Amino acid sequence: MIFISQMRHQTTALMNKSGTGGFPEKGIRLSFLHAGESESRLQLSHFTLEADMWENDRSRRKMEERKRQIQKRITVSAILTAVVLVLFFVFFFHRNTGTKKMTYQKAGMDAWEQYDIGDPVKQVPQPELDVQLLTVNEYSRPGIATDGVRGVVVHYTANPGSTAQNNRDYFESLKDTGENQVSSNFIIGLDGEIIQCIPTNEIAYASNNRNNDTVSIECCHPDESGAFQEVTYQSLVELVAFLCGKFNLTMDNVIRHYDVTGKDCPKYFVEHEDAWNAFKEDVAKYIEENGN
Ligand SMILES: [Zn+2]
Repeated sequence: MIFISQMRHQTTALMNKSGTGGFPEKGIRLSFLHAGESESRLQLSHFTLEADMWENDRSRRKMEERKRQIQKRITVSAILTAVVLVLFFVFFFHRNTGTKKMTYQKAGMDAWEQYDIGDPVKQVPQPELDVQLLTVNEYSRPGIATDGVRGVVVHYTANPGSTAQNNRDYFESLKDTGENQVSSNFIIGLDGEIIQCIPTNEIAYASNNRNNDTVSIECCHPDESGAFQEVTYQSLVELVAFLCGKFNLTMDNVIRHYDVTGKDCPKYFVEHEDAWNAFKEDVAKYIEENGN
């Protein structure tokens, strides 16, 4: 009894203490149940109920907090996924429109220089043309329509120092002499002048098996190297750029006589592949900067 009475005393002390907000450990509560005292049991059950309610309340709050955290995580994940998807589609849309653009590869070099020359190809203004059409004849202007223009072929005259007019007159003379079958749609002279000898929708005798679907350009040159004067080069850039827009051609459609037959024509551009690539780059740049 002395033991129980001591326990009661301690319990009351603990209960009083609990009134201020603290809760006893489970082990102490169990020792009361074993004591078997009815008053203690009554107080204990009341006390246990309060403790359980507190515990329930605490776990409910915990659950709610966890629920909120899970909802927060789901919301954040959904937003992140949406952002990633939007970026993904923007990137692919941009890439697809990018590949549709007409571009030109700087062949033989590591870097890709790309010029957007438009789709359809932008049209640059027509350069000044001196139109001196040849008389229709079987040796230089057969008067046959092309199958459509799918390329521009660049040549050199292989006759150093001769002018555009000299070459045009030679083509015209063939109707009488019949000594050769040769001509060109255009001739660019030593001073950059451009003479048109044959309409672009008619065949010229210049590019062998590509006569039927290309436009030909002969370029004059001052010496045996075959290199063009700066003004001749500039007129060639402008004329090729104009024809690309007129016939919707890309840089892949701009070729040398050499690319058709393997002939050493135009000499300088065959011997200097880098100069040929630089020329095509200049044409693409000219279209990009001056085309509409
Ligand atoms: Zn040629």
